[in-house]
Amino acid sequence: MTHRVLAYYLITPIADPHHEVKIHKVFCSQYDLKGRLYISSHGINGQMSGTVEAAKAYQEWMQGREQFQGITFKIHSHHEHVFPRMTIKWKQKLVAIDREIDFSKRGAHLPPAEWKKLFESGEAFVLDVRNDYEWDIGRFKGAEKPGCNTFRDFEKMAEELEQKIDKENTPVIMYCTGGIRCELFSPLLVEKGFKKVYQLQGGVIQWGLEEGSNHFEGKLFVFDDRLQIPLSDEENEVVGRCHHCQSPANYYYNCANMDCNEFFICCPVCLEANIGCCQGSCQTAPRLRSYNAQSTHKPFRRWTSPV
Ligand SMILES: [Zn+2]
Ligand SMILES: [Zn+2]
Repeated sequence: MTHRVLAYYLITPIADPHHEVKIHKVFCSQYDLKGRLYISSHGINGQMSGTVEAAKAYQEWMQGREQFQGITFKIHSHHEHVFPRMTIKWKQKLVAIDREIDFSKRGAHLPPAEWKKLFESGEAFVLDVRNDYEWDIGRFKGAEKPGCNTFRDFEKMAEELEQKIDKENTPVIMYCTGGIRCELFSPLLVEKGFKKVYQLQGGVIQWGLEEGSNHFEGKLFVFDDRLQIPLSDEENEVVGRCHHCQSPANYYYNCANMDCNEFFICCPVCLEANIGCCQGSCQTAPRLRSYNAQSTHKPFRRWTSPV
């Protein structure tokens, strides 16, 4: 594998985030790095791909800086870049939610092995805080479909959870893709009086690196060209369903009609039969990408992570 894919974030006060953006731009322009990086006064949130040398140089640079001690890079190997370009941006908020987060009220962070003990106890409520379409293609066994696309949805979800479980005694074990969503959502549960809130540290990405596909069914949705990744080489259940025929399917696609661009799970048979389209009417649309069975897995549009 010639490339590394890095996922990382750190919640830490950054006194001058604009300056940090600037020096990041200078550093990254010297290396073969691509990705999406957001910097705010609350911290940094990044996903990046680069040649092994470039990624290593970046990791060492960051880890050598006082400000970013404690940053953890989750690393995958890959044969090429998984981002089309490098975007480094200042953000008012690390994540787009219209609410101040009290980071001092977060849940307890549990490394995968500890989180697993609670999962296996059968007594904890497993809370997926990702988007529905992420859940559709893979999730921890028994995790309910989140319905959690915005922060408001999450507030509603937290209220429903109050009716469902005993706030004082039932452990809530939450998880998301890389850990950052839990950082934002757990304070809300803590504020609502949930006493046992646990976040999967490093999210499903870290789980995959340590536990493989243990207790996880399907694939992990990721916000880059790969779209979905298996957590291990082992045979795993397919939980996604083809948008057209409802048969088990493991891949997402963008509709070949550029003016539709619908994102859908599709089996290979239906993809070919519909020349890469989500519905019949898209197949005769004027701006149609030509269907190529060999290179269908790259998303056609850029992905912006909702967090
Ligand atoms: Zn199908
Ligand atoms: Zn379409």
